[in-house]
Amino acid sequence: MDNYIVSARKYRPMSFDSVVGQQALTTTLKNAIASEHLAHAYLFCGPRGVGKTTCARIFAKTINCMNRQHDGEACNQCESCISFNEQRSYNIIELDAASNNGVEDIKTLMEQTRIPPQVGKYKVFIIDEVHMLSQAAFNAFLKTLEEPPAHVIFILATTEKQKILPTILSRCQVYDFKRMEIQDIVSHLQQVAQQEGYTTEPAALNVIAEKADGGMRDALSIFDQVASFCQGDITYSATIANLNVLDYNYYFRITEYFLANNITNTLLTLNDIVNRGFDMGYFITGLAQHFRNMLVARDPQTISLIEASKEIQQQYLAQAQKCKSNFIIRAMKLLNNCDLNYKQSKNKRLLVELTLIEVAQAAQDDGESAGHRPAKILKPIFRLNVQSNDSATANNHVANKTTQTRTNATSAQTMTSKAPVNSSTNNVKAARFSISGSIKLQRDNNGNTQGNGNQTNITTQQQKPKANKPLEQQRLASEWILYAKALPQQETAMAKRLIDLESNLAITSNDNFEVLANNPSVAEQLKQYKSAIEQHLRERLDNANINMTVRIREADERKRAYSRQEQFLNMCGINPNLKKLREKLNLDLS
Ligand SMILES: [Zn+2]
Repeated sequence: MDNYIVSARKYRPMSFDSVVGQQALTTTLKNAIASEHLAHAYLFCGPRGVGKTTCARIFAKTINCMNRQHDGEACNQCESCISFNEQRSYNIIELDAASNNGVEDIKTLMEQTRIPPQVGKYKVFIIDEVHMLSQAAFNAFLKTLEEPPAHVIFILATTEKQKILPTILSRCQVYDFKRMEIQDIVSHLQQVAQQEGYTTEPAALNVIAEKADGGMRDALSIFDQVASFCQGDITYSATIANLNVLDYNYYFRITEYFLANNITNTLLTLNDIVNRGFDMGYFITGLAQHFRNMLVARDPQTISLIEASKEIQQQYLAQAQKCKSNFIIRAMKLLNNCDLNYKQSKNKRLLVELTLIEVAQAAQDDGESAGHRPAKILKPIFRLNVQSNDSATANNHVANKTTQTRTNATSAQTMTSKAPVNSSTNNVKAARFSISGSIKLQRDNNGNTQGNGNQTNITTQQQKPKANKPLEQQRLASEWILYAKALPQQETAMAKRLIDLESNLAITSNDNFEVLANNPSVAEQLKQYKSAIEQHLRERLDNANINMTVRIREADERKRAYSRQEQFLNMCGINPNLKKLREKLNLDLS
């Protein structure tokens, strides 16, 4: 026990190749050494425990090695290497700026830069946590950094790159160390376990790696702790017990309860978790992560994104098959909301329990609607259709207006006849739902005119099974006005235009009528409203075949019916004073 060395030190990498998870970076450093393109200052940035200081030490050893290997690594045999490995080299000087951040500390260090190395070529100064240096210390350091002696190389390490002054940054070659992947840590821990003669379960090492949050040093010290607790037999259950980590199985189990709508067991499981001393907020974020993993597991291509052992990945795969992606996404949203509200909540337990019940509910909703889903989505629209025919028509119209293209009467009709009748037409209620369905469809994907045709077809077949009544001028005109008046406020201009056009309606057959537009732009507008108007008239006038055609008035037809505006403009043409009179008296055409 006397010579027990913690794994983080015992298994500290001695060569660039043995550094875990930073391949790109170590290769660059090795190449720089091989080509002798050395900078005077390097800045190593990255989270704690990812190998910054280790790399700095290997770097110092390698550049001083007297017979470097072909692969760019130090020989570990020459005098310099041995002194480095035995930690008695004078060519490496480390300063921890976190505890020695005064100007005196830096000044002492800077004095040492003047003395050239006795053995080897370079003296390497490692300043750890360099962002902690005081302002005065920074300034003292900057002087040497600007003109360092040829034999000096600075390696600055920091976890907080953003705190480094630009004057320093611009003089350094910057290397960003990344957080280590869970898999990298796991395989390194496996090697260490092998050398120590421990037995391990992959899931256990995974938990350790997760807990270490991307840092190898932390991973190794947790590993030591667990290994001594388990006396060399590192099992999953012993690991989670020792580290007080919430077991994956809780999440899997509770999801099964959701799927079975077993609220009782869901709440009992929560109780169990709380009794084990886990924070409920921690549990909720863990559960949200669980659902995220399930979403990822639905696609074999993304399953590797789950940072867990192979067995647990398979478990995710199996459970994901049982869940619809709708349910998973709903659950993630609910859990995320719970997480957001957790801190403010005065009754946290109630919040968590409610969320769990809602998630269980979401699992059921999804299951129910699996067979006949449209009914659920369409409910609100259906209500809208019933409440008031006027506003419903206006709403339909809004939908139509955006989607309706310049379909002329014939193409609209062929579309209608082609459109398949909904499979559930023998059930009037079901059909009504699907009528609303096609309205919904239009709103969702703009430009689905086929859906539009479909809709009108079913509407007429289902709602108006009676014989088609022939058109009558008076009823046509009054429904025309009603339609115009039901238009929303932002379409007042169009409503006025339609009211003006009332006198331009001409019935051409039992089902057909014609609107005379005074000019092409009005005709164009009318065509945009065509299907909504037809829809309104078909319902109100008990005729499913009503068809509206728009025709631009010929020049010689003009006399037939002038609008009031046109009459006025005509009169102004004859007597321009009329216009002035109107302006003077501030008159408006009614
Ligand atoms: Zn050597």
